[in-house]
Amino acid sequence: MVCISCGRFSDALLCPICSEELRRQSYAYRYSERCPSCSRPLQDVAYPCPFCLTGFQAYGSYTGIVSNLLNQFKAGEEKLLSRVFAPLYMPMLATIEKPLLIPIPASKKGFSDRGFDQMLLICRMLTKRIGYPTLRLLVQKGEGQSKFLSLAERKERHTLTLLHLDTSVQMYKNAGYTFVLLDDICTSGSTLATGRALLAQGYGIEARSLVIAMV
Ligand SMILES: [Zn+2]
Ligand SMILES: [Zn+2]
Repeated sequence: MVCISCGRFSDALLCPICSEELRRQSYAYRYSERCPSCSRPLQDVAYPCPFCLTGFQAYGSYTGIVSNLLNQFKAGEEKLLSRVFAPLYMPMLATIEKPLLIPIPASKKGFSDRGFDQMLLICRMLTKRIGYPTLRLLVQKGEGQSKFLSLAERKERHTLTLLHLDTSVQMYKNAGYTFVLLDDICTSGSTLATGRALLAQGYGIEARSLVIAMV
């Protein structure tokens, strides 16, 4: 087979050269400093740590091979890429006590273009491999008729909402799980902020959030 990124002959989805490039793109590799409280990679200890501040962590920045692979993934060509991305969350999840995964749902448009919900796919893969439970608690609301709506209405309707209240949340809470939102890219942070606010309102949960790339 060939490398999914560069097309060179390879035994694995990503050839050793591309795997190494992906590793070098991570904050864990690029930043030598670590947060004194949580030990996560930090560009500069003079600035507050995003994880200590809001429970946010990213694998790396949206550049180079990370952005190339994510674009390929989002374009829906490569469902296989979830096998490359899922492991990138693992070291971040390993530092969180009893993580429970909550995927940020794909927009309906994204879903119909691709035919799959990429974050749900990644969460299910992590559940299968490591056993972290996944709960679908959020949905994208009201996009179906968006071409008949004004921009303002569309903006209003293209929002994240809570799915029906899930009674198992209380059980997981009591069992000491840490609720973690998973998304692929963080641009403004507004989707994750909405997700966190909804979970706080609906369930009284303080969720962490992990992404692959920060723009
Ligand atoms: Zn390659
Ligand atoms: Zn920290």
